[in-house]
Amino acid sequence: MEGSVGPTGSQASLREANSARVVDTVKRYGHITQVELASATGLSPATISNIVKQLITQGVVQTQNTVRSGRRAQMVTLARRTALAAGVYIGRRTLRVDISDATRDVTASQVFPLPANHRVDTTLDRAALLIMELVEGLGADLPEILGVGVALPAPVAPQTQRISVRGIMRDWEDVDVRAVLARRLGHRVVVDNDANAGALAEARYGALRGCSEGIYVRASYQTGAGILIGGRIHRGPRGTAGEIGHVQVDTQGAICQCGGRGCLNTVVGADALVDSLRVSRGPLTLGDVISLANEGDPGCRQVIADAGVAIGNALADLSTWTDPQRIVVGGELAQTGEVLLGPIRDAVHGRPMLASAQIEVVPSVLRDHAESVGAMVLAMDSFGQPFADSLPAPSGSPSPEGA
Ligand SMILES: [Zn+2]
Repeated sequence: MEGSVGPTGSQASLREANSARVVDTVKRYGHITQVELASATGLSPATISNIVKQLITQGVVQTQNTVRSGRRAQMVTLARRTALAAGVYIGRRTLRVDISDATRDVTASQVFPLPANHRVDTTLDRAALLIMELVEGLGADLPEILGVGVALPAPVAPQTQRISVRGIMRDWEDVDVRAVLARRLGHRVVVDNDANAGALAEARYGALRGCSEGIYVRASYQTGAGILIGGRIHRGPRGTAGEIGHVQVDTQGAICQCGGRGCLNTVVGADALVDSLRVSRGPLTLGDVISLANEGDPGCRQVIADAGVAIGNALADLSTWTDPQRIVVGGELAQTGEVLLGPIRDAVHGRPMLASAQIEVVPSVLRDHAESVGAMVLAMDSFGQPFADSLPAPSGSPSPEGA
């Protein structure tokens, strides 16, 4: 299937599809010769040559002379790489790095599983290495990027950029992640809480776009929220705003990592979920519970639905205080879709005080990438041209206010 330049609409759209295929291939390989592009895409060298010429005029790619197997060749790389930033999400079991520019046209991403209680130095080493590999893969050099953002699953004080509450990320709380990573990469680094980063990403590119008030909740190994107020992320001086995992839901409950009794995390955290299934299902991981729920296992679905009720009640309280237009649900538990979202929505809509608010409860648009993309946006804003946290919704898309 190959199109040539022609007057008809279908040929034009074929050419557009071929062009997108070429851009995707250049993104995937970082740098690739025109001959290699032809074999990777299955398009003829003449078509590749035409498309590359057009992409150069559009400022999407650039070429330079090189030599391959003793012959002269044209190396193709992406042109727009001047305002790249890196976003790193360090989760309890996952490390993810995203690299992009503000248009999100240039993207590279890598995910790496982490062992439970992973060590600070090896994890930060791995993060630095992934950033270097991905930047190189995009045909860029490390000094070209604006900076690096990092999202951590703990409250981070905006002023010091350090974890501000002890007990939540034990080995990490005395480490200056910003300084360590800045030293390893020779780059500027900014650190934030994961749910705040997720909220920022959803406000910029996802489901909170166009909202002035909104909540992003991250339901994962632990639960936390990022709050958008007046179009900006509300963090508080210690960065603890939105830490709904640490609101008390059971006065007789278990002691939480934070030292408090009966926090939401003691009820909906990964340990609590797998514990409640141990008698009937044996030892499971959080990933197992999610997979089984998606396969229809009634016990696993029940456990996640009950977590949805508890999280929904906390979100209903938070909504009473912040009056959001929309609640966006992300994190691993959201991979079960309506199993989690349904009970959250019912809990929020069930509050008489909120009944008339018609708060939308929707899944995250950026899904697994919300935290790393949010960290990247933070880096762009901190070290590039800052702009409002929440961009206006694209024209033609429905306004969350129904205006
Ligand atoms: Zn707690």
